[in-house]
Amino acid sequence: MDENCIFCNIAAGEMDTDLIYEDDRCVAFHDINPQAPTHVLVIPREHIVGIAEAKSDHRDLLGHLMLVAADVARQKGIEDSGYRLVLNWGDDGGMAVPHLHLHVLGGRTMTWPPG
Ligand code: AMP
Ligand code: ZN
Repeated sequence: MDENCIFCNIAAGEMDTDLIYEDDRCVAFHDINPQAPTHVLVIPREHIVGIAEAKSDHRDLLGHLMLVAADVARQKGIEDSGYRLVLNWGDDGGMAVPHLHLHVLGGRTMTWPPG
């Protein structure tokens, strides 16, 4: 855990953030600045800065995050209407928090190409 990392602190239960899902490897919670009616973040408990820093050892964990994101979307009732999973990296990708996180966005029609 990186004690200066906000998402590490959320995963450790040290923030006032409601976890809508948790297991031994990851947690999910609502984005504080939602960009869609449903906007959930799924993060690993392990402090991985982002996808570009993930190692082959993380292969199973990364797959787990995707499956948890799909489960969260199902529980949120947006499976049938559809949703988008987003993983940002770096300045051009729009990454703001340097702890890997998967956005689950739904409840409205997404545009393409993304902004
Ligand atoms: P990104 O731009 O991909 O790094 O996304 C970071 C996301 O984290 C943004 O959508 C923020 O609104 C969200 N965020 C930042 N701090 C918090 C927090 N304390 N609780 C929930 N979401 C947060
Ligand atoms: Zn972290």
